Amino acid sequence: MTAMQWFFSFLKKYRAKLIFATVLVTITCMMAIVNPHISGIIVDDIIEGGNRNVLPLMMVIMIATNLIRAVLKYWFLVIFEQSSQGMLYTMRDFVYRKLLAQDFNFYNKNRTGDLMSRQTGDMEAIRHFVAYVIYGVYENVLLFVIALVMIFIVDWKMALCMIAVLPLTAVTTAKQLKAVKPAFQNIRQHFSSLNTFVQENVSGNRVVKAFAKEAYETEKFNKENDGYREAELGAANIWRKYVPIFEFLANVLSIILYLVGGIMVVKGYMSMGKLVTVSGYLWMLNMPLRQAGWLANDYQRFVTSVERIYNTVMVEPAIQVPDHAVSKKRFRGEIEFSHVSYHADDEVILKDINFQIKPGQTVGIIGATGSGKSTLMNLLCRFYDVTEGEVKIDGINLKDLDLYSLRDNIGMAMQDVFLFSDTIEGNIAYGRPNCSFDEVEAVAKIANAHNFILQMPEGYDTIVGERGVGLSGGQKQRISLARALLKSPSVIILDDTTSAVDMETETQIQNELGSLHEKHTVFLIAHRISSIKDADQILVVDDGRIIESGTHDELLEKRGYYYTVFHHQYGDFDAIVQNKSFHRHSEWLKGGSMVG
Ligand code: ATP
Ligand code: MG
Repeated sequence: MTAMQWFFSFLKKYRAKLIFATVLVTITCMMAIVNPHISGIIVDDIIEGGNRNVLPLMMVIMIATNLIRAVLKYWFLVIFEQSSQGMLYTMRDFVYRKLLAQDFNFYNKNRTGDLMSRQTGDMEAIRHFVAYVIYGVYENVLLFVIALVMIFIVDWKMALCMIAVLPLTAVTTAKQLKAVKPAFQNIRQHFSSLNTFVQENVSGNRVVKAFAKEAYETEKFNKENDGYREAELGAANIWRKYVPIFEFLANVLSIILYLVGGIMVVKGYMSMGKLVTVSGYLWMLNMPLRQAGWLANDYQRFVTSVERIYNTVMVEPAIQVPDHAVSKKRFRGEIEFSHVSYHADDEVILKDINFQIKPGQTVGIIGATGSGKSTLMNLLCRFYDVTEGEVKIDGINLKDLDLYSLRDNIGMAMQDVFLFSDTIEGNIAYGRPNCSFDEVEAVAKIANAHNFILQMPEGYDTIVGERGVGLSGGQKQRISLARALLKSPSVIILDDTTSAVDMETETQIQNELGSLHEKHTVFLIAHRISSIKDADQILVVDDGRIIESGTHDELLEKRGYYYTVFHHQYGDFDAIVQNKSFHRHSEWLKGGSMVG
């Protein structure tokens, strides 16, 4: 499918309406011949012929046709406008769904502001095309043809003289269409870029302020703004050359008419009335010529926008689901990674990862920053596909599973917490909007969020700002944890979810999590050993590999990477390891001198 075929598929639904509106346009154009025709009659029959009796009839016909034309024009304008809005509604919905269906890779590569401009500026160019340009082109072509035919009927020699400008008009229009296309593509690019810049700066405004970079950002913005202005001026420079040519051609027509017509009248080849009739058609020839340049512009603007939207939304997501994907209401939560490697743009992120988790087990994942912990979980949610090996849940390869079914069974509190501008209750209940308030309260208690939420001005009804503005880092994490828990999924992933809460709170959360009745397989990613020490299995990730695995005690025995980290975090490690009284030790640490 080409971009244009894609666009026209949205118009299909409005075909009958648009055809009807086109018929109305045709009728109004046909009726345009009444005025010049009657003007000719008035001159030849009434003024020169002295037949005054027909004058009232002529006047009535003229007034009536003009009234009817006005009503019909109003009617078709409404149809075109309504069809354009209806079509745009469907298209926006389609584009939005396509954007939602895109995978992580797509969002890694596309800028937010750029994607937003597809739904705003580009859509507007399309709406304008459907509402005005389609009928504009048709009306102008029709008026031109009708006028020419009528002039032919009145006097074919004069018509031939007028046709002489047609090839020039065609060539000029074609040239303009070709010339402005890259200019409009340039405009759209700069518009997207400007949009992206503003979007990033507005959402990152706190960073700009913190670094006192207002002047720097303003300068950068000015560059973007300049770029956009230059792009618009560039396009204007091009069409500016063509508009006068069309204007000139329109004037040439007038000159031909009065020159040739005048000579013919003087020589007696043509009556005065006929000259008046022909000059009455002049606007029908002039207007299309004058508008040709503008319509060519609008058309190219539209084509550029359709192509941009089409190229953005028709990207096939890399994550594909087979036709007969397995769908399960609930998984037991058995997870297996076998020989999993993941490469991103030729960079090896994960190498030969192997582990097996039984349903209901808690898995701790620890490792240096950038070692691949979050990526491991991204593969488990199938946000990315493994490059080699297999990830299985309950023995089923993720690639054979229905994505919705898989993700519905996973509750994830992401490392980079994102909250919607909604109430706290709305944010927690995001995964199950129809749940009862008691359920929201229950998970908020587990996540140790209930107390601070009650202290907020409107409790659970407090609206948190965009991305959770107004909440502390730890508060956001706890809401995100409650949100993940509320789904009551078979697999819970907590990626650095307690990094911003104090140890006391973290311990309380872990105790609550441990006492959950339903069985969940839990992945706990953390940098603090205290966060994962009680896990059934701990995976130590380093540079994309699992270098150690086992329980806390087993790993300490190994005296490897985990042991070293433990030493760094707890200082006097020898003493602790020797009497293996970590739990007692941590009680002591909680007393005050914990490093973490
Ligand atoms: P942290 O503890 O800081 O959260 P992490 O262990 O979770 O770190 P990951 O986010 O998994 O680390 O990243 C592992 C490596 O993969 C990093 O070097 C990162 O730059 C790289 N990486 C992550 N995602 C992508 C991606 N989409 N494209 C390219 N490289 C990526
Ligand atoms: Mg991470």
